[in-house]
Amino acid sequence: MALEFIEALSTDNLTAIKAIPKADLHCHAFFGTRLENVERWLGHPLKKAPPKMSGLEGMLAYAGKFLAPHLRCRRGLEFVAASAVRDAIRDGVVVFEMSFDIRCAGFYADGLTGLRLFIENLVDCHKMEINLRPELGFPRTSAANREDMDLANHAIELGIFHSIDLYDDETACSPEAVKPLYTKARDAGMKLKAHIGEFGGAEEIRHAVDTLELDEVQHGIGAAESTEVMRWLAKNDIQLNVCPTSNVMLDVVPELSAHPIRVLYDSGVRVSVNTDDLLIFGQSVSDEYRNLYRAGVFTAQELDEIRHASLRGQSYHEN
Ligand SMILES: [Zn+2]
Repeated sequence: MALEFIEALSTDNLTAIKAIPKADLHCHAFFGTRLENVERWLGHPLKKAPPKMSGLEGMLAYAGKFLAPHLRCRRGLEFVAASAVRDAIRDGVVVFEMSFDIRCAGFYADGLTGLRLFIENLVDCHKMEINLRPELGFPRTSAANREDMDLANHAIELGIFHSIDLYDDETACSPEAVKPLYTKARDAGMKLKAHIGEFGGAEEIRHAVDTLELDEVQHGIGAAESTEVMRWLAKNDIQLNVCPTSNVMLDVVPELSAHPIRVLYDSGVRVSVNTDDLLIFGQSVSDEYRNLYRAGVFTAQELDEIRHASLRGQSYHEN
């Protein structure tokens, strides 16, 4: 299998790359499918994301104007999430950690009950093809919102989420503000993740990992500025779930060939390759592997090693 992946990359055979098992550990359900699928569903074209957006603000301005108005409802969420699972299966993703924002419960008259039913059905429908591991998504801006916090606590008790993730403006709340929620998630056996170091620096990453006892970091590329923090992440076996195209399009990284994932990897930090928001960034996991190879960031052997490591300890069906 490994030889096949190496050969598929070095002969630029995208069909063969797609056929080999991969993980996607950083994907948001709300924007998780390809733009074409949403256009077909809506029956009209949508404006594509520009190749460069100015950070999270730029992305939210684009998504808020051109995408969210069509999708911010139960039908929109359910279409995109189900379509995202089909996209992932077609791409050879066998382990899929897709996050559902806690505010999605508001799309259902019966709140979390309805959301839970939808997620459980989705997992069940595709269980022979993909290990879909629903993730609880909690925006930092909700940390001060009592209702959202109560909902998130209740969501953990339901036992349908395998992991928890924190995102939104990195400065919107301190790690301490969500510490009780994370302790509860840890006690429930969930994997702990948070978006940090996408825009912020190495010390913020160390502080959040330390405070929240994170298992993995979404992005975390800011760690590349500090040899000491990279060494610390490597020593503590903290994996960074990196989304290369997202970083380039949000202008954190000027171009793929200069992506700090190389420095992180060379420093012994565990990295994985993921999509973030397929609807906006347009690159599947297979595309991302291919792009990294073509840009000369990694050799095919190194990418195969990254692919293997990201599947490590996960259960999935080999097709
Ligand atoms: Zn993300």
